[in-house]
This record gives sequence, C-alpha cells and structure tokens, in this order.
Amino acid sequence: MRAPVTAYVALGANLGDTQQAVRAAMDRLGQLPRSKVTARSSLYRTAPVGTTGPDFINAVVRLDTSLPAPVLLDALLALEQAAGRERPWPNAPRTLDLDLLLYGDARIASARLTVPHPRMNERAFVLVPLAEIAPGRVPPQAIAALTCQVIARIP
Ligand code: ADP
Ligand code: MG
Repeated sequence: MRAPVTAYVALGANLGDTQQAVRAAMDRLGQLPRSKVTARSSLYRTAPVGTTGPDFINAVVRLDTSLPAPVLLDALLALEQAAGRERPWPNAPRTLDLDLLLYGDARIASARLTVPHPRMNERAFVLVPLAEIAPGRVPPQAIAALTCQVIARIP
C-alpha cells in the first residue's frame, strides 16, 4: 500500500449552477477511492482569463490520496464528464474543470499530465485559493504579480 501523497486540485465552473457544481465536486473528490479531502478553500468569483464568457467560480482542495497521479487524473476527468463537461473548443465555458496543481513534490511531464500545473503561477484564481489552504506552497511575490486579476471571495 502506498503512503498517501498531499495533492492540490483546482476546481472551476462558469456554466450552469456553478456554486453548486463546485461544492458537489468537492464532496465527490472526497469519495474517490483511497483519498480524503483534508482542506477546502473558500469559493471565489473571478472574471475569465484568456477567454470570454460568464464569470467563474473557483476553489482549491487539498486531497490526501494514495492514487497514483495518472489514476487521479483519470478520476478528475471522469468527474468532469459526470458533471456534463463538453469541450467544443479550447477554453469553452465549462460546467466543471478539475486541474491537478500539485502532487506532493512530484514533477511530471507526460503526454497527458504536467505537474506542477504549467499555468498555475499566471492565475490569481488558482493562487489565491491555494494560498488560503497552503500558504507555504505559494510565493507571496507570485500573488503580488497578479493583483490586476479581479477575484472576490464569496462569504
Ligand atoms: P484546461 O484545463 O487547460 O482548460 P482541459 O480541462 O480541457 O484544459 O484539459 C485538457 C487536458 O489537459 C486534459 O485532458 C489532460 O490530459 C491535460 N493535462 C495536463 N496536465 C494536467 C493537469 N496537471 N491537470 C489536469 N489536466 C492536465
Ligand atoms: Mg482542465
């Protein structure tokens, strides 16, 4: 049996009942085999970055998991599918997006999985919720560089 790894998963949605979708996805992540959600950030409302469309709801969870990273990615993609995710074009509005940000200290560069997530440091909607639950994993200057991106914590 593998020892659990501390992973961080980013959640996002900008189509349908977005808050409900993100909250439900947090619950479903905790129901994955050999996995436990050990921290949940607040929900945040953000304007789309690099695309147009409705505002997003974003959040990050900490997942202690014994699933290998590629198996975890498959589980994330399956949860997106179950939430009705379609990909008509790149960056299309989505009912649910689940990205693997960090998997312990692993560095992964395979055809279908890059960890740490390659664009996480450009995105306030990832770094701000990540810093809420894992301040040690986010350099303060990284967030300071993104203050032009509008992000509002949902009380
Ligand atoms: P995006 O999240 O960039 O809008 P998608 O959600 O459509 O794009 O993901 C496209 C593909 O990105 C996935 O099928 C997956 O194989 C790949 N991918 C690579 N690295 C990661 C990662 N760290 N987390 C999630 N998906 C990843
Ligand atoms: Mg994605």
